[in-house]
Amino acid sequence: MDVSRRSWVEEANNPACEFPIQNLPYGVFRTDGGKHIGVAIGARILDLHACACQGLLNGLLAEVVGACKAEVLNPLMALGPAAWSALRARITELLDADEAHESTRRRVEPLLTPMREAAMELPAQIGDYTDFYASIHHATRVGRLFRPENPLLPNYKHVPIGYHGRASSIVVSGQEICRPWGQTKSAEASAPVFGPTRAMDYELEIGALIGPGNALGMPIAIEEAERHVFGLCLVNDWSARDMQAWEYQPLGPFLAKNFATTISPWVVPVAALEEYRVRGPERAPDDPAPLEYLQSPSAERDGFDVTLQVLLESSKMREAGMDPLVVSVGNLRTLYWSLAQMVTHHASNGCNLRPGDLLATGTISGERNGSEGCLLEITRTQGPLALPSGEQRYFLEDGDRVTFRAQAQRDGLPRIGFGACAGTVVERDQPG
Ligand code: CA
Repeated sequence: MDVSRRSWVEEANNPACEFPIQNLPYGVFRTDGGKHIGVAIGARILDLHACACQGLLNGLLAEVVGACKAEVLNPLMALGPAAWSALRARITELLDADEAHESTRRRVEPLLTPMREAAMELPAQIGDYTDFYASIHHATRVGRLFRPENPLLPNYKHVPIGYHGRASSIVVSGQEICRPWGQTKSAEASAPVFGPTRAMDYELEIGALIGPGNALGMPIAIEEAERHVFGLCLVNDWSARDMQAWEYQPLGPFLAKNFATTISPWVVPVAALEEYRVRGPERAPDDPAPLEYLQSPSAERDGFDVTLQVLLESSKMREAGMDPLVVSVGNLRTLYWSLAQMVTHHASNGCNLRPGDLLATGTISGERNGSEGCLLEITRTQGPLALPSGEQRYFLEDGDRVTFRAQAQRDGLPRIGFGACAGTVVERDQPG
């Protein structure tokens, strides 16, 4: 990463900007002109479809130029790291204050759309969605609620636990989330009831969107795993805890999870996070070593130092013009399993990953109070959350808006932001 690089898009050089020239996340945006692939720079979106049509990507392979004209990122994801890096280099040239000639600038400037004039769409057609359980602090804290003596199950340190989620209900940030109805049964009740969940929760996660993927029957070696990660986004795995508690045994999460999952619209390339790599998951001295297929030769740099934030705002707070409450602050580096290990494990049985598949980390929680990635962990042990409006919350109420933010930042380095992943819980119309 060239930290001194600056863009002629002036606002991108502001140290507070989430989208400097060193970030360049991909997304899909809609304007009157249609649905196009774009790249975020400052407060604007560079239209890659238009760049491709106007010859600004000439010199790149025809398949790369073609992929930029698609309405989703899947064709670009399928091309792999060499294509991604060539395209990224070209976009950087077009936006660089020193490299872009005045004539280039004049051609590129009209292809920038202010973000406020565009509607963001899902970045990819997501064929399959898998959710892991990679935070040992989340697994331990939640496990303790059910098994105080033995919170962590015996398989946890050997196998990256996950389940298959549902892709059809993945929505982009900003869409309202209907409170789901389902079966619940309290401990005191003799029979279940059907109705709206009373225990609506969020789960703070990071998602990896898959690049080329593997053929059915062909595993992905751990040293190859990151070649299959196109980029990262924020994920909110909305969860109905009361439904979950009643349905999860013996086959795991089902309707308590699959009613909605929100993702952020911008996909941050792994290349933008190179300077923010850190050691992969730390294992305590008496922890078992991972089995050989999960041992990474680059464990020294398999982690990512990305700060994650959960903000909550009730409708009362919104009406009163109050700032959202920062509920917690966590970090992607605290996971017990790396993204590379999750990819390799997922394909280890021969299961094929395809371009645009979403692999989410599971709730990311730190060890300390204040870094929990969901309300369940906070309110079951510390009591209700006090909102600045005088309200309190065990779980989410209708009108509550949950926003996740993430950024990598360090003195002397550009800030790499993920944008926002937001959703507001609303009451569902009663089924007829
Ligand atoms: Ca989850």
